[in-house]
Amino acid sequence: MHALCRCIPGVLRGRVLASCTMRGLLPILSVLGVLSVLPSAAASQAPPRDPDNEEPTVSEAPLPPPGRADLDALAKLRTRAETSGFQATGSYQETIDFLKQLAAHFPQMYLGFFGSSGQGRPLPFVVVSKEKAFTGRKAQRLPKPIVLIQNGIHAGEIEGKDASLMLLRELGEGKHREILDEVTLVIVPIYNVDGHERVSPYNRPNQNGPSAGMGFRTTSDGLDLNRDFLKLSSEEARSLVALITSWRPHLHVDDHVTDGVDMDWTLTWFYAEAPQIAAPVDAWMRAHLPAALAATEKDGFRTGPYVDLIDRNDPSKGFSSWVAQPRYSSGYLPLRNRPSVLVEMHSYKPYEQRVRGNRSFLLHLLREVARDPKTLLRAVAEAEEAEVALGRPDAAPSEVALVYEESQEADSIRFPVYAGAAKTSVVTGQPLYQFQRGKVQEITVPWFHKPRVTKTLPRPRGYLVLPGWPQIEQRLRWQGLRVEKLTAPADLDVEAIRVAKPKYAESPYQGLTRVTAEVTRTPEKRTIPAGALWVPADQPDFEVAVQLLEPDAADSLLSWGLLSTVFEQKEYMEPRVLEAWAAEKLKTDRQAAAAWNEALQDEKFAADPIARYRWWFQRTPYLDPMVGLVPVFRAMKAPVLKTLPWR
Ligand SMILES: [Zn+2]
Repeated sequence: MHALCRCIPGVLRGRVLASCTMRGLLPILSVLGVLSVLPSAAASQAPPRDPDNEEPTVSEAPLPPPGRADLDALAKLRTRAETSGFQATGSYQETIDFLKQLAAHFPQMYLGFFGSSGQGRPLPFVVVSKEKAFTGRKAQRLPKPIVLIQNGIHAGEIEGKDASLMLLRELGEGKHREILDEVTLVIVPIYNVDGHERVSPYNRPNQNGPSAGMGFRTTSDGLDLNRDFLKLSSEEARSLVALITSWRPHLHVDDHVTDGVDMDWTLTWFYAEAPQIAAPVDAWMRAHLPAALAATEKDGFRTGPYVDLIDRNDPSKGFSSWVAQPRYSSGYLPLRNRPSVLVEMHSYKPYEQRVRGNRSFLLHLLREVARDPKTLLRAVAEAEEAEVALGRPDAAPSEVALVYEESQEADSIRFPVYAGAAKTSVVTGQPLYQFQRGKVQEITVPWFHKPRVTKTLPRPRGYLVLPGWPQIEQRLRWQGLRVEKLTAPADLDVEAIRVAKPKYAESPYQGLTRVTAEVTRTPEKRTIPAGALWVPADQPDFEVAVQLLEPDAADSLLSWGLLSTVFEQKEYMEPRVLEAWAAEKLKTDRQAAAAWNEALQDEKFAADPIARYRWWFQRTPYLDPMVGLVPVFRAMKAPVLKTLPWR
């Protein structure tokens, strides 16, 4: 595996991929709009106070220029990265202190907290809003896009934080006013705050600084947050998804660092293209990302798409830019019809170059949004409206995509890789490609980056979830989906989903045992009990439900092993009890006797006592009908239901 520090080990097209995508006291500054979607006991008991009802509505007042005293104070404010000559990055507390000082002199900036980490650190976020729209609901009332920049999901890859702090200071100083005029900016300076505080110079073997050390990749209990967007095993991911639900940003940026190949690009990028993302959003990205990249290049930072070499010993065979599953930010945000730009700074460049390159790109991307804000608003709105329309009770039948893979179709690209040659490794004795850093060799290579749909399903009108499955209920709640609860039983035509022949992974992944199984869907008449949940398809985030609930989706709850009890037979029939039942049946049921005699013609079967036991057991009324039945039914026609809102 060529990239030890990168973020996405997985197997695609027969080769290993590795890439770098990815309690306690809630402070007074917490945004109550976020709390309203947090899965806390308090939230489920009583509706939280709505700050939007108590605060004056936002205004479009012209922005006064910062005063002299504020400018003087801001000019003196320096990050730890700057004061250390980019040999260090600030701690959590230093970062909070910097942001507090900034907020004291920058009235359009707000520092809040959107949850807490496993170790109890408050999770900070910053809002920059000319109108002081510091809650998601208020910001959504404004006719301007909301951009969410997320840093430090892998806390050792932290240039996005230092870049964001510099950018925030510049905004406070009154620079880049077009951004404040046209954009509401939300920044998560450090997402994985516990990993951020586990500092060592030895956390990132393939990364050039900061030399004083950097944070660690995972949470304190070993979870990679850039695998947790859908299953939400961590406090941190539940909080971030609640923040996304509360603010519904129109554009998301996820800052990382990558390695694996040595080349001249300082910044690499990726985003999920259509059909993985809705066509209008893809069109916005195609129209605007190139301008932001070109401006970054003008600032002196070479940029290119994210690189995963097809053959690690031969760059001329080209590279892939990968397809993101919903466990990653890049695969998750598209399910919610918003673009997510993955930024991967190149790990062998000096830290200062990485921070300044990251800042340059963030600035130019924000300027690009500000240059044409209405187009981004419209693209996301169109994508959401289309999703809702496809799920309406009277909509024409359509398909929903279940699985995306990389297309075999490649473009050609000029690749400024460093020259090199394969030499025999002293470690493995095998050929190992060695790069000559700085010696650029521009070559034209194939570039694989297009997703294709490899499995679709007829789109249901919604899902019915049997009561008593907390693993499912929690995710529906945490993902902020619109859900109703049946107040009376309903006799319905549904599609039942059954799973069989599970294959469990040999080793755990993210602490879970992943599983694949054969999946069948059959039309059935069933009585769905009161207390069951109804997840209607006419909602903008419906594809989140699809990916959670359809068992053959890559990151479904079943795939993550969170529903593996469905495979387990809980009662067994004593052989002597079965013996009596079978003997009686052979005497009294001619059809059964004939079928048994026919089965025994198969010598292999006749010689297999377990198969013979199963043959009979499956014909008894003691077989549990819940074994293999996924507790989720697909409603292919709009059902008539008596329901109440669930939350
Ligand atoms: Zn990463």
